[in-house]
Amino acid sequence: MSSEGASTEYDLVVIGGGSGGMGLARRAAEYGARVAVVEKDRLGGTCVNVGCVPKKVMWNAANLASTLGYMPGYGLGVSKEALALDWPTLKANRDAYVARLNGIYERNLAKANIEYVVGSASVAGKGLVAVTAADGSVTELKAPHVAIATGGYPCIPPEMVGGEHVITSDGFFELEEAPAKAAIIGAGYIAVELAGVLAELGTEVHLYVRKHAALRAFDADVVESLTDALEHSGIILHTFSPIGSVAKDEVSGKLTVTTAGENVEVIDGFDVAVAAIGRCPNTDGLGLAELGVAVQDSGHIVVDDFQNTSVEGVYALGDVCNKRVDLTPVAIAAGRKLAARLFKGDATAKMDYTNVATVVFSHPPIGTVGLTEAEAREQFGDDAVTTFRSRFTNMFYAMGDDKPKTMMKLVCVGDEHRVAGIHILGLGADEIIQGFAVAVKMGATKADLDATCAIHPTAAEELVTMRISP
Ligand SMILES: Cc1cc2nc3c(=O)[nH]c(=O)nc-3n(C[C@H](O)[C@H](O)[C@H](O)COP(=O)(O)OP(=O)(O)OC[C@H]3O[C@@H](n4cnc5c(N)ncnc54)[C@H](O)[C@@H]3O)c2cc1C
Repeated sequence: MSSEGASTEYDLVVIGGGSGGMGLARRAAEYGARVAVVEKDRLGGTCVNVGCVPKKVMWNAANLASTLGYMPGYGLGVSKEALALDWPTLKANRDAYVARLNGIYERNLAKANIEYVVGSASVAGKGLVAVTAADGSVTELKAPHVAIATGGYPCIPPEMVGGEHVITSDGFFELEEAPAKAAIIGAGYIAVELAGVLAELGTEVHLYVRKHAALRAFDADVVESLTDALEHSGIILHTFSPIGSVAKDEVSGKLTVTTAGENVEVIDGFDVAVAAIGRCPNTDGLGLAELGVAVQDSGHIVVDDFQNTSVEGVYALGDVCNKRVDLTPVAIAAGRKLAARLFKGDATAKMDYTNVATVVFSHPPIGTVGLTEAEAREQFGDDAVTTFRSRFTNMFYAMGDDKPKTMMKLVCVGDEHRVAGIHILGLGADEIIQGFAVAVKMGATKADLDATCAIHPTAAEELVTMRISP
């Protein structure tokens, strides 16, 4: 739909057809609302196109590769040395899968009778959204409820010297061939995941972090175990290594990374440098200031517990808002709750941002929910915190000489030992944590875990058989 100056009325206009926007729009339509979704790029947003989905495909490939080394121990005549990576096929199959998902998203909108408007939207006034199409034509959409679910984008600080030679996670998914040598800049989960994928697929990976470790906000035992795991994957970790510059040799096309700070290090020969050092909210050009919608200095839209912005009838959810739990299921859940509040009459419906389980798809993966030990000590005091920790070798590794460790930890609080946090690094952590997150959400105690009969032989049984940490 387009035609200059045309105006159409809805109950709800959603700006952004990503995780949050789709979750909100589809649920609102289910409740009978007339809904339009405006999307300027590919439906599905970050998660489907340049996030969770293509990342998980790459992780799956890397995971398969990482198991090759254990095959000879099981009498299987394949080994890591036999790995023959066909990156173009992997990329083509991955891109085709993503394109299929784009189509499914579009069909889902049609099935739900949601108007899909292609173009870039801004809020032109209260209850008024202006959509600019590729040909420059502008359509106006009217609705008493306008939701902003525009997500974010990977940003590189403008002051980074040689930033023009650096790609982001978006660029990573465009790589046409496997780099032989890669610099990954960043200490967050995206940096760790991309480093792991490349390393397991045979790239020489250097991971540059500003401070002492990657994933510093995670539980200290996870951080320690991850540092071991990175080394095990052959990743060269450069700690206390902020980037001074990235330079490109115009003849060879190779990159040289120079660190800043006390120990200046110069390493050349990189095929690619990937910066995963932060994501900025997509708020430019949305007309928020003109409308009086409050935003933080970072650009994130300020919302209350019900996703209300400072302007009545305007809502924000997902990565663009200041809740900062930037995960797909969180954006979807926030959207669905908002739909229930606006169109189902459920006045108290709101997203609960506590105890959200999350997984880092490292090698091996990390699964975590709830408080870290440090957070628990800060909130409840040292005397109220009891931890249970186990480091063991998963039986999967029993047939070979290489025996990486799994780490599992419970953080319990109070005399009743309520389980306030669970942290796992090891094979299967990505799948194990979901079920245990239910227990944490329900307020399970250590005694509840102990009363649960173990499943043997699994790694997960360790969580219901743990003794107090020494
Ligand atoms: C590499 C990577 C890996 C990730 N892995 C995971 C994971 O494993 N698990 C997980 O839960 N999360 C993961 N995430 C995070 C997850 O992708 C986001 O939290 C999620 O997509 C946020 O959803 P959203 O709806 O807020 O925004 P988005 O999904 O980003 O959607 C926003 C949409 O709005 C559109 N838009 C923006 N401005 C306008 C405008 N003016 N007009 C019209 N449309 C507009 C954009 O084009 C986009 O499609 C990952 C992210 C990245 C980058």
